[in-house]
Amino acid sequence: MTQVSGDDLKQRLGTRAVHAGAVPDPLAGAVMTPIYQTSTYIQDALGRHKGYEYARTQNPTREALERNVAALEGGRHGFAFGSGLAALDAVLKLLSAGDHVVCGENVYGGTHRQMTQIWTRYGLTFTFVDLADLDRLADAITPATRMVFAETPTNPLMHLCDLKAVGAIAGRAKALFVVDNTFATPIFQRPLELGADVVLHSTTKYLNGHSDMIGGMLVVARDDLAERIGFIQNAAGAVPGPFDCWLCLRGTKTLALRMHQHDANGRRIAQWLAQHPRVERVYYPGLPSHPQHDLARRQMTGFGGMVSIELGTLARARRFAEGTRLFALAESLGGVESLVGHPASMTHASIPPAMRAAMGLTDSLVRLSVGIEDVEDLMADLDQALKTGG
Ligand SMILES: *Cc1c(COP(=O)(O)O)cnc(C)c1O
Repeated sequence: MTQVSGDDLKQRLGTRAVHAGAVPDPLAGAVMTPIYQTSTYIQDALGRHKGYEYARTQNPTREALERNVAALEGGRHGFAFGSGLAALDAVLKLLSAGDHVVCGENVYGGTHRQMTQIWTRYGLTFTFVDLADLDRLADAITPATRMVFAETPTNPLMHLCDLKAVGAIAGRAKALFVVDNTFATPIFQRPLELGADVVLHSTTKYLNGHSDMIGGMLVVARDDLAERIGFIQNAAGAVPGPFDCWLCLRGTKTLALRMHQHDANGRRIAQWLAQHPRVERVYYPGLPSHPQHDLARRQMTGFGGMVSIELGTLARARRFAEGTRLFALAESLGGVESLVGHPASMTHASIPPAMRAAMGLTDSLVRLSVGIEDVEDLMADLDQALKTGG
């Protein structure tokens, strides 16, 4: 089990991003953590080894990443997985048949799919509620509730929930409080400090930040939870390879720097789009017009680079999404490069149209993952796509 050192937690976030979790390489003194591309480790004698026996169980590259992300989240233990959904699979394995989960209703589509199409077959039950409505959350809790699962801000409509308030309700019910922090990242929001028991990441997105690997992570502060998750990580075995861990570790070194640029570009573009005559509505927690702007300012220290816009008709959304040049039409988010997506036909296509409509997720909604390019070039690209297509 990898544990964060107390010294790492004394540093500020930009310093933690660069240094936390690194240990000097014992062979050559390599400054960068080597890629330990091995499945097994030589033992000196029967039962005598360096703490590394088999790479599903222990790998130094993976451990460096786990310590780094755990330190960024202000936790004590990190666990890396082969994808964000593998991390979700592992956290749900803390539960047993008969247990009940209350989950936010606007969570990532793959989260909803795994819960409803896999875990229900193993005896878990789920209630999906709008976690912004604390009365509905309290009503959804039953004596069997063992977990509350939240995502904030949500994708693509940028709904927030009050982590402190939700955590208090989960705590009174003695339910584990799990927060998917993929969108905000620890640079802008630290759920463990607001009452979460477990933080989940798709490291595929901002943490790696370069759109060149798939990965997931769980972070906890409590040693007893770490013991159980460590057991599941090894016993179920959905671990990432050392090269992907190394790529992610390279990414997290610049996380603070990148997030500040995503945030600056996101704010500028959201404000500009809000004035644009061809844009009907902008969804961005950093805009004063966002219905939960006050909560966003209280709970987050930045708003990031995810911006959704309402263009009025499907035809206009299609022409706009196909008309950008710098913004690439693609799934995913959180990379240094800007992307444009159409949730109704891409990321959220698996949600039935009636449910999408009830959520307010229209066919004319377009989602932008604003990258770290020069913002004037990004605005010029959006402007030409809005003029010619939108
Ligand atoms: C992408 C994503 C996931 C799933 O992660 P994968 O790495 O694709 O398995 C979970 N939650 C959120 C918020 C995501 O954006």
